[in-house]
Amino acid sequence: MKQYLNHPVFETITQAAKELNLPVYVIGGFVRDILLERPTADVDIVVLGSGITLAEKVAYLMGGDTKLSVYRNFGTAMISCRENDQSWQIEFVGARKESYRLDSRKPLVENGTLEDDQNRRDFTINALSLSLNPNDFGRLIDPFGGLQDLDRKVIRTPLDPDITFSDDPLRMMRAIRFAAQLDFTIAPETYDAIPRNKERLEIVSMERIMDEFNKIMMTGKPSRGIFQLYETGLLDKFFPQLTALKGAEMVDGKGHKDNFLHTLQVLDNLAEKTGDLWLRWAALLHDIAKPLTKKYDLQAGWTFYGHEFLGSKMVPQIFTRLKLPLNEKMKYVKKLVLLHLRPQVLSDSEVTDSAVRRLLFDAGDDIDDLMLLCEADITSKNQDKIRKFLGNFQHVREKLQEVEEKDRIRNWQPPISGKLIMETFGIGPSREVGLIKNAIREAILDGVIPNEYEAAFNLMLAEAKKIGLKPHT
Ligand code: ATP
Repeated sequence: MKQYLNHPVFETITQAAKELNLPVYVIGGFVRDILLERPTADVDIVVLGSGITLAEKVAYLMGGDTKLSVYRNFGTAMISCRENDQSWQIEFVGARKESYRLDSRKPLVENGTLEDDQNRRDFTINALSLSLNPNDFGRLIDPFGGLQDLDRKVIRTPLDPDITFSDDPLRMMRAIRFAAQLDFTIAPETYDAIPRNKERLEIVSMERIMDEFNKIMMTGKPSRGIFQLYETGLLDKFFPQLTALKGAEMVDGKGHKDNFLHTLQVLDNLAEKTGDLWLRWAALLHDIAKPLTKKYDLQAGWTFYGHEFLGSKMVPQIFTRLKLPLNEKMKYVKKLVLLHLRPQVLSDSEVTDSAVRRLLFDAGDDIDDLMLLCEADITSKNQDKIRKFLGNFQHVREKLQEVEEKDRIRNWQPPISGKLIMETFGIGPSREVGLIKNAIREAILDGVIPNEYEAAFNLMLAEAKKIGLKPHT
């Protein structure tokens, strides 16, 4: 293992610990990741003594532009430094023993041995440690068979899973997240303990839950982790709107598709094209209002009229509940949910310039993302249908490009501003200004007049006349 520690950073830590006479180890994700050949520069150091004292000494020995941050309340310290063009983040903490009580989220923490510290880790593969001490530098300390689990690609808790999960229920989410990220399986006894402990997720903050959920969203095939969240009952605990999509009802022998499975398929399709978290969220939420809008009609069969409108209205509520950012990202997801049927409707009918202009106007710079979402939304099993739909979308894309080149509607500002209308007719802000502006916008989008100042100015005069306004002299 020594070769992995052949770096000045570790040499300095060893020297500092020796001078302080404190045993020291690298532990957790760093060890796991070097063994998996996914090198990282996030290092966790555990010391049998004060993490802060050791970090101070290391920072002193490193000198230069080493940055030391001390968190006295937590008894931890963090060093950030650059070595060989790499930014290192090294966290120092004293070895701890944690004991949990059922009535409290917070464990009782006391100083402990290396073994105590390994016992409080979530999974065998995250409990591996490497000695940094001169007498056995580089020795792997693996009390729970973590190395074998890495080899066999298994996620397993070091202790009884019911205890590990009940102590910190976030670990259930982490089990599923690591399995999804690393393409591991979860040991059956570990997996089976999740449904038994799912109620405990209530004591975990939504921010921590979302950190893990978003990591699952960012995996190559997000459906895998999300399906496990569903199957174990965790998903329903924090995201009931998503589990409400599950199932397919039958009336008169007619069924509709399972919208949960469909959503996961759309998400996977999109994940092949983009690493953008929020575009993936738009895929996750695009049909979120289907259960609320579902109706069975004797003629039309199953319908979900207006699910895009209601769905877009649900986005802020869902983001609020899930403690996701209520900023531009939320507005972007909301907009894509609202527009997700538009390119499809367009491709079903003849693609007219004015419909394309309207779509460009409404989608603005998000038009390319919207097209990706719509293409991902094709989940038919029938290859002929898929080819046909993709062909239609290709036609829409060509039309979009053509109209955009001609009319520059993306990020478009109408050629006549409200200010000009007010000045021309000597009026203040009023309903009339809005009426004239709307008429100009609609005429341009419909292609009745060209997207030019003069044509728009003339239309303004004509519209104003209709409502009894005369130019101010
Ligand atoms: P990633 O960087 O992908 O999140 P990581 O394993 O490095 O992976 P961290 O969250 O930084 O993740 O955790 C570092 C180490 O701390 C883990 O490897 C694990 O040993 C331990 N750990 C983190 N969270 C928990 C937890 N909730 N319960 C027990 N041990 C944990």
